[in-house]
Formats: sequence, structure tokens, C-alpha cells
Amino acid sequence: MKERATTLEKTRNIGIMAHIDAGKTTTTERILFYTGKNYKLGSVDEGTATMDWMDQEKERGITITSAATTAFWKDHRINIIDTPGHVDFTVEVERSLRVLDGAVAVFDAQAGVEPQSETVWRQADKYHVPRIAFMNKMDKIGADFLAAIGTMVTKLKANPVAIQLPIGSESGFEGIIDLVQMKALRWTNQEGTEFTYSNIPEFLQAQVEEAREDLVTHVAEFDEELMDLYIEGEELPVDRLKAAIRKATLLGQITPVLCGSAFRNKGIQPLLDAIVDYLPSPKDLPPVVGEIIDSERKIEVYPDENGPFVAMAFKIMIDPFVGKLTFLRVYSGSLEKGAYVINTNKNLKERISRLLFMHADKREEVDYIRAGDIVAVVGLKNTMTGETIALSEEKIVLEKIEFPEPVISIAIE
Ligand code: GDP
Repeated sequence: MKERATTLEKTRNIGIMAHIDAGKTTTTERILFYTGKNYKLGSVDEGTATMDWMDQEKERGITITSAATTAFWKDHRINIIDTPGHVDFTVEVERSLRVLDGAVAVFDAQAGVEPQSETVWRQADKYHVPRIAFMNKMDKIGADFLAAIGTMVTKLKANPVAIQLPIGSESGFEGIIDLVQMKALRWTNQEGTEFTYSNIPEFLQAQVEEAREDLVTHVAEFDEELMDLYIEGEELPVDRLKAAIRKATLLGQITPVLCGSAFRNKGIQPLLDAIVDYLPSPKDLPPVVGEIIDSERKIEVYPDENGPFVAMAFKIMIDPFVGKLTFLRVYSGSLEKGAYVINTNKNLKERISRLLFMHADKREEVDYIRAGDIVAVVGLKNTMTGETIALSEEKIVLEKIEFPEPVISIAIE
């Protein structure tokens, strides 16, 4: 089989979850812009990149229209799985949460945690989805980073830990302090696409020290050597600190919090870095539990390319060019296009004729898929969402999705 450009370790299957109006669409669009442009900071093309994007946006809009969109950032493949933000779509939310490995929770830095975010957050807790949080709209009147983080504690009972601090807010939102690398990032153009790094400004020194202390004390226990260095007052290596933050995040012990303004292009590249640095690859996750049909024997399905092929259909869409697309999350094994598979829920043979990765602006046809992939396939005529597709001697059905009673919600806006 041909080698794929990115390894499983460098794959991130993520969702972006938010209360309606917090900026999920804008954040996703900006992510697709930066990843699609292969944007190089400090290159002479910066001005043109911005122009191109403006033109492009005017022409057709870079909007996520697919159930899953593949993007690339710093050698990593980031699959963004669409997560509905409304309580009414609880079943859909649960289904998408089940197939993603990590999430970015977007909040409005002025409003903080809002009612609908609580529901989605609890669902993400239920599926143990590691998260990072993005306090968006730092440019908005009344934006308050620390107060918004406070609402994550009071309303979500979360354990947020700032890994950044804003420099200014509202129209004076000028930059971000990176508490891991201990440097200040400042924007140098109106569009927010260019920035430089500098030292931490004097007036923020005390606040930064306090926040850094809070960050380190939250994660040092996950790395003994880091803890020793910290106790001895030594300098902490950036990579070690990042690894400890990652570990604490994957274990669900903390939610690292970043800030920015998607609307003004501010803070998106650091957010992409954080997705790569702190959210899990498919290999970091525990196995999913399936059941062997007829025997009711439980079986653990590991993200192993050489294991038996097991996937779950999580969304069906009609594509204007390709027809019926079934989105699969592959949990184990690999599969070539043209293969016959079994829908184990229905005990039905189906054929997968084409395999596609959906990008923001194109479909990429591939010859094979493997554990960890999120892929759109053509040819599954009788498969519905939630059903298991397998190719093994034993008929594995993934653990049944248990949906809670429908919630009758009264929107308190
Ligand atoms: P969604 O409902 O979560 O998908 O939110 P949208 O991305 O559609 O954004 C909702 C509204 O907030 C739109 O009018 C956006 O232009 C606006 N918005 C998004 N990001 C920002 C931001 O960073 N700052 C400000 N001031 N407004 C924003």
C-alpha cells in the first residue's frame, strides 16, 4: 500500500463546538483559510494571501459544508467534524461526539458560558472528549478573558487553565502572551494576519507570573522531571511543559484556554498550534468496545491498521457531484477501494466503490483507508448512520449508542 503523507500520530479528528453565535462558523472559516492557504508567516506573500482570501470569500465563501473537512497544518492532518450546536439535535451531537477524538470549545469572551454550551459540554464529558477552549470575540465591547474563564468553572464545573493571556481587549486587543513559551505576540497589520514576537510588557509582568504559576502547578504532576525542575526553580523546557499540558488534557484533567478574535483573524494560528500540540491522535485513545453478534461477547477494537476492519457510519449526505456519501470513522484495520464489506447491524453485504477525503475546496480520491481515518465513501446503499461496517470473520457491532430521553428545551437566550 502507498504511504500516506501524514502518519496516524499526526492526525487530529476534532470537532468545534459552541453556543449559537459564539463564532463557530467564523472560527472554522478562518481555520480553513489558514490551513488551505498554507500560510507562511513572515513570507513576502502575506499581503497577497489576505487579498486572495478576501476575493475568494467574496466569490463563494470558504464555508464548511461537509460533515467532515480535511485540512493540513504543520505536517498534521486535521479532520474537522461538523458538530451541531443546537440542543434540538442531541442525537446528532452525540453521534458526532462519538467519532471525534478531541474538540475546540468556542465561547464568546463577553458572554462567557451560555446555556446551550452546557448541554454540549456535558455530552462531551460523557464521551470523555479532551477539549481546549477558545475565548473568541476578544475585540467585543465588554470582553473579559478571566471572567469568561470563571464561567467555565461556575457553569461547567470544568478545570480551565489559561495557556495565554490577552494583551488588551475590545478595540485595544493588541496581542497575546503565550504562557508556555513566555513571549508576547503582537499583530502588526489591521487584518490581524501578521504578527511579531517580543518580550512580555512590563505592565503585564505580575499577571503573567501568576497565570504561569497556575499553569505549571496544574500540569507539573504529570511529569516528575518537570515537577523537580519547578521545585528547584529551574527553567522549564518548552517541549516538556507542552507534553505535560497534553497529558493533562488527554486525561481530561484540564482544559487549556486560548483567546482571540476569529472575526479579526486574531489568534487562529496559535489555536491551530494548540490543536496539534494538545489534542489527541487516534493512537492516544483507549479502544472502543464492540460486541460480537450472536455471542454477545465484548471485544475491544484498537486503532491498529493491521487489525480487522471496523468502521462506523456517522453521517449521510447527498453530494451534488458524487451522489450519496456515507461518512465513516474507521476504528481499526484498513480497506482498499472496491472492497466488499458487511453491514453487521443488518447482516448485509455492501460494496464500497470510492473513497474520498473532503477538503474545503475539493474532493480527494484515495485508494485505501485505515484506522483513525474520517472518510466519505460511495457505494453503501443500505447503510444508515450509527451502523457498523466490518470485514472480519467475527461480526463486530460497535457498542450501541445510547441516546438519552429527548430534551424538551426552553431556550433562555
Ligand atoms: P456561530 O453561530 O457560532 O457559527 O457564529 P458565527 O461565526 O456565525 O458568528 C456569529 C456572529 O458573531 C457573526 O455576526 C460574526 O460576525 C460575529 N463574530 C464572530 N467572531 C467574532 C469576533 O471575533 N468578534 C466579534 N466582534 N464578532 C464576531
